Amino acid sequence: MLDKVVIANRGEIALRILRACRELGIPTVAAHSSADRQLKHVLLADEAVCIGPPASVDSYLNMPAIISAAEVTDAVAIHPGYGFLSENADFAERVEQSGFIFIGPRAETIRLMGDKVSAIRAMQAANVPCVPGSDGPLGTDDEENLRLARDIGFPVIIKASGGGGGRGMRVVHGEATLLDAISLTRTEAGAAFGNDTLYMEKFLERPRHIEIQVLADGQGKAIHLGERDCSMQRRHQKVVEESPAPGITEEQRTKIGHRCVDACLKLDYRGAGTFEFLYQDGDFYFIEMNTRVQVEHPVTEMVTGVDIVKEQLRIAAGEGLKLNQQDIVIRGHAIECRINAEDPETFMPCPGTITQYHAPGGPGIRVDTHVYNNYRVPPYYDSMIAKLISYGGDRPTALARMRGALSEIVIDGIKTNVPLHRRILDDGHFQAGGTNIHYLEKMLGL
Ligand code: ADP
Repeated sequence: MLDKVVIANRGEIALRILRACRELGIPTVAAHSSADRQLKHVLLADEAVCIGPPASVDSYLNMPAIISAAEVTDAVAIHPGYGFLSENADFAERVEQSGFIFIGPRAETIRLMGDKVSAIRAMQAANVPCVPGSDGPLGTDDEENLRLARDIGFPVIIKASGGGGGRGMRVVHGEATLLDAISLTRTEAGAAFGNDTLYMEKFLERPRHIEIQVLADGQGKAIHLGERDCSMQRRHQKVVEESPAPGITEEQRTKIGHRCVDACLKLDYRGAGTFEFLYQDGDFYFIEMNTRVQVEHPVTEMVTGVDIVKEQLRIAAGEGLKLNQQDIVIRGHAIECRINAEDPETFMPCPGTITQYHAPGGPGIRVDTHVYNNYRVPPYYDSMIAKLISYGGDRPTALARMRGALSEIVIDGIKTNVPLHRRILDDGHFQAGGTNIHYLEKMLGL
């Protein structure tokens, strides 16, 4: 096993990684900013190294400081969590060049998947179904682009190859606005991502977001852990996730899952990963791959019994995957609510001191959070402070347990989106299952 792991992240995922390391007997180093000395995992880690001031660019995005933290503590591996440097191919490369193990895929895989045009090409080569589109970068020939859009059929969506976080996209409903939309998106993409490569896709009007979790050992073995439905979104940010996706049959799961597994084998993929799809009228369309652990991984853990973070650590240690596809059985149903320190009406972040925190409990309830009484939520980072996960033998039980947990949880002193989650859980359409990615914004009247 790994002799010592640097946790290069913060918040709930840092604590999640620490817990997995402890279970496997791996000593931990918390690499943290000066604003995060009181974070739960920093207090619990075997060692802690301050890697810089509060601003992420100076700490959690500071590659030399993180690598130095590994050097001074004699660690052997670095876990990047999600966000921050987790999908930065240059970081993965520098970590490995410095003699440490990057807990994730090889740098070249991250680079391939980080560029959406090259990712889509790789998926097409691996027979993963993609959205009908330009199949490559858009050129500068106006006539050619108009013809392409006509062939695809309006509405289309113009997307930046280097985009992320729901930015760098523009929907176009007709020919009149296409060329302006392309030049505007090109300018924005160049400024925001330093890469003005664009591509075009058919805009699907009422898709669901369904993604497949995979694990691969980079030694010729890969499996999938079924799907998650993450259609409850606001501004392309996931709010509630669940597994399995309502209405998806075992046959559909097996079919799309196998496509993803084949793609992993073709790519010689290593680690945990997620294939994100839009799903409409019974068909899956690949949109992107995330080459890291995801926020919503717990719902998959609950229904499969597989500890995804422990598997990441084992794979990084060079232990081949011991799990076989036939070992993966989806049992029951799990739902996750992302709890953010934000105003439930305006969605403005609401940092501050949590004066009182009571965790919910009972059968089938899991809370992944770093907060505690008198913890001060700093203003510098993402506003997510907890993930509330419910599990039940079936979806109605998971829903009932989540409603109970949402009524029990107490987070005083700051505003949170718990009231929003209560509203979602009380909504008839959500309860029925299978709502599309626009539903939440419609429900909120946005
Ligand atoms: P990002 O990396 O910025 O998250 P994605 O390619 O994953 O970009 O797209 C983000 C979101 O944008 C999707 O979850 C979906 O809501 C919307 N979207 C992207 N492509 C399409 C499309 N072809 N049709 C409809 N909606 C789309």
